[in-house]
Amino acid sequence: MPWLVQGCTTRGSEVPSFDLGLFNSASSKEHVAACWDELRTATGLDRAMHARQVHGADVRYQVAGPTGLHLSDDCDGHVTGAVGVLLAVATADCVPVFVVDPGRRSVAALHSGWRGAAAGVLERGITVMVENVGSRREELLVHLGPSICGACYEVGPEVFEALDQPVPPGPKPIDLRAVLSERAARVEVPMGHITVSAHCTRCTGSGLYSHRNGDRQRQVGYIGVRP
Ligand SMILES: [Zn+2]
Repeated sequence: MPWLVQGCTTRGSEVPSFDLGLFNSASSKEHVAACWDELRTATGLDRAMHARQVHGADVRYQVAGPTGLHLSDDCDGHVTGAVGVLLAVATADCVPVFVVDPGRRSVAALHSGWRGAAAGVLERGITVMVENVGSRREELLVHLGPSICGACYEVGPEVFEALDQPVPPGPKPIDLRAVLSERAARVEVPMGHITVSAHCTRCTGSGLYSHRNGDRQRQVGYIGVRP
């Protein structure tokens, strides 16, 4: 899809490391602003849309407008069909979820930890695409990007309960991307349209930030439609 821009940043090789976290004060404001400028330049998408994320299910439809970095009201996902708009969700273990409607050239970037998954952020993102651009669920492509993997993410029984999974007697690892795949399939995205990144924020040496490893910086998952 030559019209599509999609990816995930990493910490990079320079000092200070590439950090897009606007709300964690891990790096200087100037450095984070410079990293956002670099991301917009590298992707060729001048208008970046981001928000403070609250582990909820609010997803906003983003339109064309002035260039630069723009913050929406607090939310955990963005949808657009406008060209030149970079949708970005910050992560460090949580899952960046990407949705593409190839026929209508529309895209979504969603942030999903277990709370967001339980709140239905993935399902809400798909609904926003259906309502705003007329997407058909069976035509959508879903990619679950770099995040903490099923071997590295031990959680308590309450997380399994919140996600409608069989509840173990004590802490146990959970594969959040497998849970999100099931949820996408349940809202009519064909299983063959769902892909999962092989990268883990903790164990694959992929240069990603991990909250569980103590990183306060953030990478972003980004997606947009090339002008
Ligand atoms: Zn892992």
